[in-house]
Amino acid sequence: MTDTTHAPAGSAGQPPGGRDMAGVKALVTGGTSGIGLATAMAFARRGADVAVAGRDEQRGRRAVRAIAEAGGVADFLAAELHGESSARRLAQAAVARFGRVDVLVNNAGVFPFGPTERTTEADFDAVFGLNVRAPYFLVAELAPAMARRGHGAIVNVTTAVAAYGAAGLGLYGASKAALVLLTKAWAAEYGPHGVRVNAVGPGPTRTEGTAPRGAALEQAALAGPARRPGTAEEIADAIVFLASEQSSFVHGAILPVDGGRVAV
Ligand code: NAP
Repeated sequence: MTDTTHAPAGSAGQPPGGRDMAGVKALVTGGTSGIGLATAMAFARRGADVAVAGRDEQRGRRAVRAIAEAGGVADFLAAELHGESSARRLAQAAVARFGRVDVLVNNAGVFPFGPTERTTEADFDAVFGLNVRAPYFLVAELAPAMARRGHGAIVNVTTAVAAYGAAGLGLYGASKAALVLLTKAWAAEYGPHGVRVNAVGPGPTRTEGTAPRGAALEQAALAGPARRPGTAEEIADAIVFLASEQSSFVHGAILPVDGGRVAV
């Protein structure tokens, strides 16, 4: 029998907003900065309890304080993500802290840029360790329990450059293209058990992580119809939509939030 006591968020057909995610337990990887922090803030504003994960304690404490000041409930879980053991430990820590995880956002990621011939195997392993292996084993640890409860939502953060070839972005794009396929595979695997799995594909977005790129980010954004970079909040709105009951009939979708870049 399906337990509907803790449906992921609100009810289908209800307008978004308010505290329609009250009671929802969310885990956001990379929740201490940029898109992840904006997502954690947005979940908390809608009433969810949020576990924010990252490596840096100071950033973690700052994120929790900012969420608390906005009236939300959050906790920082320190985790250096690189593969199975770190992912399973984080998932177990989130369950220990909040009792269960209803919503998982696989957001933490690295986005190196550079020529293929200068990439080392260690670079390769670091990118795939964080961008692919960690989400894979977070899902392996958390999705079965969501499926047993009959509800849950997983949102993967990919990138526009998983959809087209860009010089210097092959390794990064390939790691996120793997996550695109996993999104669809997990939708097929867990969707029939009430767990919706979707992804957002951001285009160039102003965050702490992209700040060092300076004007190059604005330049990259000119290729899309919006002709500007996005904000972390614009990406977070799409993530929260896919995690909430407002998207109750959406499974296995990759939602471009990229100013139209992959459309043209
Ligand atoms: P960001 O500001 O650099 O934040 C990255 C987050 O990930 C931080 O919370 C960081 O926390 C955490 N993190 C980094 N390495 C980690 C590791 N090894 N283990 C655990 N946590 C780690 O990044 P962002 O720009 O918001 O990007 C977030 C996601 O969006 C990434 O997956 C990225 O690929 C994707 N994306 C971004 C853009 C963009 O233009 N910004 C575009 C497309 C896709 P600590 O440093 O404390 O660990």
